[in-house]
Amino acid sequence: MPAFSRYGASEHKRLGIYIHVPFCLSKCAYCDFNSSVCNDPERIRKYIDAVIAHMDSYSEAAASYEPDTVFIGGGTPTSIPPAELYRLVKAVKKIFNLTETAEFTVEMNPATASKRVLSKLRKLGVNRLSMGLQTADENELKALSRIHTRKDFFRSYRMAREAGFENINVDLMFGIPFQTFESLMHTIRYVASLGPEHISLYDLKIEPGTAFHSNYEDIKAYLPEEETEYDMYLASVSLLRDLGYHQYEISNFSRPGRRCVHNLKYWNCDEYLGFGVSAHSYFNGNRFSIIPDVDSYISSFFDPASKVVITENVESVEERERLGEYIMLRLRLTDGIESREFSRRFGYSFEQLYGEKLVPYIRGGYMTASNGTFALTPAGMFVSNYIISDILEFEDFGKYYFGS
Ligand code: SF4
Repeated sequence: MPAFSRYGASEHKRLGIYIHVPFCLSKCAYCDFNSSVCNDPERIRKYIDAVIAHMDSYSEAAASYEPDTVFIGGGTPTSIPPAELYRLVKAVKKIFNLTETAEFTVEMNPATASKRVLSKLRKLGVNRLSMGLQTADENELKALSRIHTRKDFFRSYRMAREAGFENINVDLMFGIPFQTFESLMHTIRYVASLGPEHISLYDLKIEPGTAFHSNYEDIKAYLPEEETEYDMYLASVSLLRDLGYHQYEISNFSRPGRRCVHNLKYWNCDEYLGFGVSAHSYFNGNRFSIIPDVDSYISSFFDPASKVVITENVESVEERERLGEYIMLRLRLTDGIESREFSRRFGYSFEQLYGEKLVPYIRGGYMTASNGTFALTPAGMFVSNYIISDILEFEDFGKYYFGS
């Protein structure tokens, strides 16, 4: 008789798998991800070989796990030769013991879709697509230097449905140069009218190393004011709710039952393994990342003379840090922090540790406290970085990422 556990009729632990494909057709002006333009199929082939070798090296360590999510992101995974993408999808399924219902997402840029490729991915077991639209306004798309139009997006969305994808996310942004309150509401209404299962709405940040950062003086006059961004965010949360998309995280909204299982692993402090350059992992009590350089990554697997160590920033997560991370990540979720669950995990009372600090936020309407659950309101989520840093006394936890 099988032993039952919280994972069902299996003793295997759950795991998320992330794979980074760092190639794109062109570099967007705001992008600070590890991605670059690559027109060399041979280099791409070698990179995929390296990722497969990297995954293979974990087959033993991950043998007691049944991954229930896979996320191939980037970069633009659909920009590489289709045969390489299929090879990658097949390799993940061969190396890891995925659950039958695993959520398997591939990110795509609307300019890179083809019905043939989408149908093949669907047949191979990919069951979720994440499409980067960002905005439905042509001028805003140009300002972002996106290579697709709204029409391209519509065409690829329709192709994805025809190919059998029943779980689609659309990425949007606010705070874009030239964007107005009205144009953002129009974008949200347009996307919701197509009926994707999930919508992400990110706040555009001007990050060092991007074209926007270098040209900041030229674009700053066209960026929405901070108060406008605040209004945009609150109105978006409310419009999305009216259109049937419930907020479950600062930037994420879904139809009932369609939350992104993979991303929830990050916010719930569950385990995940990342493969490919710049990928992050939380596995066996350790956090670590992979080096960012593609050529060094490839040579570490195939050049016998290479002395490159691909894993860096390895740190075991001590209890105090785990506690801080838990608070930081859980407050991103509308489910918030349940004090009973907190005590079960850490043996401390959340109210006793942080109750006093929370009072002004609860009084100010930035946080709710109900039946032992503490959660940020939409107004609190907009300034979550500030609130979380304040609660955790930032200097102790400054090494972690506080972005939204
Ligand atoms: S398509 Fe995505 S990953 Fe590629 S440059 Fe644009 S924002 Fe960055």
